[in-house]
Amino acid sequence: MSTLTLDSILNPKPLEVARHITQDQADTVHFTDFKLSDSLKSRLTAAGFVKPTPVQAGAIPPALEGEDILATASTGTGKTLSFLVPMIERLEDISKPSTKHHKEPILALILLPTRELAMQVLENFHKVCPTTKHDAVLVCGGLSENNQIEELKRGPRVVVATPGRLEDFLRRKAIRLDEVDMLVLDEVDRMLDMGFLPAIRRIVGSLPKDRQTMCYSATLDANIREIVKEYVHKPVRVEIGSTSKPSDRVELRAYMVMQDQKLAQLDKMLAEEEGTFIVFARTKHGSDRIARKLEKLGHATEVIHGDRSQSQRSAALKRFAEGKARVLVATDVAARGIDISHIAHVVNYDLPNGSDDFVHRIGRTGRAGNKGVATTFVTPLEKNDARKLERELKIQFQWTEADKNLAKEERNQPLDLGKHEVKDIGDLLALETRSWKGEGSPAQQHGKPAAAPHRPKGKGGSGKGRPHSGPRSHGGGRGGNGHGGGSNNGRPASRRRRTH
Ligand code: AMP
Repeated sequence: MSTLTLDSILNPKPLEVARHITQDQADTVHFTDFKLSDSLKSRLTAAGFVKPTPVQAGAIPPALEGEDILATASTGTGKTLSFLVPMIERLEDISKPSTKHHKEPILALILLPTRELAMQVLENFHKVCPTTKHDAVLVCGGLSENNQIEELKRGPRVVVATPGRLEDFLRRKAIRLDEVDMLVLDEVDRMLDMGFLPAIRRIVGSLPKDRQTMCYSATLDANIREIVKEYVHKPVRVEIGSTSKPSDRVELRAYMVMQDQKLAQLDKMLAEEEGTFIVFARTKHGSDRIARKLEKLGHATEVIHGDRSQSQRSAALKRFAEGKARVLVATDVAARGIDISHIAHVVNYDLPNGSDDFVHRIGRTGRAGNKGVATTFVTPLEKNDARKLERELKIQFQWTEADKNLAKEERNQPLDLGKHEVKDIGDLLALETRSWKGEGSPAQQHGKPAAAPHRPKGKGGSGKGRPHSGPRSHGGGRGGNGHGGGSNNGRPASRRRRTH
């Protein structure tokens, strides 16, 4: 365990192996301690950012000195501001030419995996820079190309992009990146999972070699480490309290409950406790079913899963974030990366597939210094799986027996397994989910055409293995467009290394 003092947080030694920063250490620092302009300090305070989170305390000081950063941090840690703050400080240092006709070059590029994440980054940018709306633009799939091209013509200095659309624009020469001075690669692990490595290579190849690069990944296994080595030069490694353990600000409860009493238990918790709830279900059908039943019980509920379109998901998230729905029911994949602060309660309606998913789910609450509660429903048959989570993550649930008199959900006739093809427990669970009373196809009940029956790809319920969201494309040969040689050739000294 490192013993970083305030002085060593603010004055990092470059190239130190890794800066592990805990919440307690970060608590000793304020944004006003950083080498930032007075204007930026007061805008951060006005936006409610007073104390940095650990990843911010770890990354901002060396990034302000022009160092490359390699940080292990996932959504919810405050990673966005940890790259935006040094970026904004740098941009403010370079005064904008006043002539209207002069087109600004793009100086900063943020590459990330999804449009939702891009929109969140832009939102954070506008919180800190409310008067310079046109200085940052999105270049992402799923949005109008023409608008993005028009916005680029206005000369923004910051581009927040997903690799596919950006590569397309580059090929069509709709964008130039040859003056980019700062590159952020956000959620590298997810971009690689989604097969973006070739696009990233081509994009980074069109950037000046002599730039600053900040790289973020939730995990940093040997494979990812090998790939990011191409893009960062002697980075300062930033690690925060482990991503493989739930935050200690989250109270972990486990309810022993029968499958057919879970809904009544959830209804009871919604009646007894305050705040927003995110409820995790194992299957798409299951999440539709739970959402529909909660609605019937009078709880305003939204649902997101892989069978819902992008616009349905965005609308659901918006209603939840705006407080129009108190409950969001989600599957693991759909919930990855969503950034909604102040979720009071996470409910694992179904056990997660393993400790990774458990940590991701729990990470939706207890963010940015807030407290949270996470409740896991455990049926008698799943007790060993839950105990395994405790052992693997070195956590301790507060165990409670659910009230035996809770209302039971009624079921249709028993399943006739002979009529269905059941190859594994995943198939069985999918059938189980559809056998609850009142269930036709969930999509039909929403007035939409029926979705194809769900066939989980993984080994549902065994606690092992989890399907990937896309092809893992890393591990191939190395492209050659990373930093060259480590010198600052060609980079104006004022940009690369700040002197105060
Ligand atoms: P991120 O991990 O960057 O997605 O941030 C998660 C949430 O924490 C966002 O809603 C941020 O606005 C919020 N946040 C980030 N940094 C701070 C901070 N230093 N103090 C309070 N809230 C923060």
